[in-house]
Amino acid sequence: MEAVTGDGRQILLKAADVRDFAASLRGELLVRDSAGYDSARRVWNGAFDRHPAMIARCTGAADVMRAVGFAAANHLLLSVRGGGHSLSGQSVCEKGLMIDLSQMNGVRVDPARRIATVEGGALLGALDRESLAHGLATTAGTVSHTGVGGLTLGGGFGRLGRRFGLTCDNVRAVDVVGADGKFLTASSQQNKDLFWGLRGGGGNFGVATSFDFQLHPVDPVMVGGELAYTWEDAPAVLKFFFESAPQMPDELNVDAALVRLPNDARFMTLDICYCGPRDQAERVLAPLRQIRKPMRDGVAATPYTTLQSSGDAGTAHGRRYYIKGGFVQKYSPGLLDVAIATISEAKLPVVQAVVFPQGGGAYKRVKPDATAFAQRAAEHNVFLFNSWEDPAFNDQVAAWVRTNWAKVEPHTFGFYVNEFNADDAARLRDTYGANFDRLVALKTKYDPDNLFRLNANVAPKARS
Ligand SMILES: Cc1cc2nc3c(=O)[nH]c(=O)nc-3n(C[C@H](O)[C@H](O)[C@H](O)COP(=O)(O)OP(=O)(O)OC[C@H]3O[C@@H](n4cnc5c(N)ncnc54)[C@H](O)[C@@H]3O)c2cc1C
Repeated sequence: MEAVTGDGRQILLKAADVRDFAASLRGELLVRDSAGYDSARRVWNGAFDRHPAMIARCTGAADVMRAVGFAAANHLLLSVRGGGHSLSGQSVCEKGLMIDLSQMNGVRVDPARRIATVEGGALLGALDRESLAHGLATTAGTVSHTGVGGLTLGGGFGRLGRRFGLTCDNVRAVDVVGADGKFLTASSQQNKDLFWGLRGGGGNFGVATSFDFQLHPVDPVMVGGELAYTWEDAPAVLKFFFESAPQMPDELNVDAALVRLPNDARFMTLDICYCGPRDQAERVLAPLRQIRKPMRDGVAATPYTTLQSSGDAGTAHGRRYYIKGGFVQKYSPGLLDVAIATISEAKLPVVQAVVFPQGGGAYKRVKPDATAFAQRAAEHNVFLFNSWEDPAFNDQVAAWVRTNWAKVEPHTFGFYVNEFNADDAARLRDTYGANFDRLVALKTKYDPDNLFRLNANVAPKARS
């Protein structure tokens, strides 16, 4: 069988070796002509149409150990698919081995200990649903079909994050299969250096087969939804958001978006979630409603799981997506002007948005060197987001993003690794700041041959 190595060499795998590998798995090994191969290779971002030589549909840690061992022994290009949501499409590879964790999607909650044990391929919707059944939750991202694996390893922002911290701040232990195919557990007691790196260092260090998360008591009904404003009101609303959001109560999360639709409609939205006492919500939200009268006010008492799936339909699987982002350390008026101009002047027949998820709160209270995730002080995260269907627009979209990002980027420093874009590699040192050298040392210890390279890659030191 034809395949490629991590450093791009074409190789031929012996048919007998591939047969033995397949026979050693409890799950299936899919090759090009297998039933189910085409659907298994598809990832959320339809811009990526890659064909792995093999897809190992792992059913447990034993399969993952076997698959990593086979990839390492043959120096194969390796990708790891958790929820399949990577914006850069790196969970599927061309002619390498794809480790597919989608069948490892179980979630078990221990309500007495307030711990959720979550398999590496589970989706956020499953984590929220199982936890909320006990009146518990932890920070999870804003779209329920995103994977727990990738989101947690890279950080994890979400509607509860300003109260409970990043998703990775709530990890108590991770089961990992390392580059040598061996299984280990990382926690504050065991393999502490790896535990540090797994919280923000992305998929650089191994395959996470299971996570233990700290859960917190919450009201399963929160006050949230969307406020939508006319384009004329957008500058005033965005100014208020930039200046006030970092000081808002920890229980309030507000994500702002400037949107242009293919029919040329332009507007602004604030996505609101208040997870504090419900009888305080009106008072806390009053300043937001007073900036300008929203043209649509969808904020009301709503089950948290409904809020958590409110963005699902707008981010459907299979469309094409292109994103470039960065952290806003401190708001400057120039950023507001650039953001408004970007959408005012946008003309492509695709959905275009400038989005600002909120920082501050509990994110900021963890020291930048306590975990690999260094960007604790950022007030916001900004990204340009495009979504389209017709491949004829691929080049135009990329050119539009590059031109406009060049204007936004000077207002940012570093970027969120879960919004990695293939041409962001040069900015990785800024992203990790003082943690970068420690990550390189960790990578050199745990993955000296860079087997886990399809991610926001921290390269190991070359062997001397
Ligand atoms: C619609 C949408 C909404 C989003 N919303 C948020 C949000 O609210 N907050 C936020 O913080 N982020 C958000 N993100 C970004 C998200 O965190 C990343 O896309 C993340 O990579 C998704 O993880 P995944 O497992 O689904 O992705 P995959 O594509 O499966 O994986 C991405 C990468 O993560 C690594 N990986 C995944 N699982 C494992 C594992 N078990 N072990 C080892 N490595 C693994 C691999 O390196 C892989 O290449 C969103 C993304 C999308 C597309």
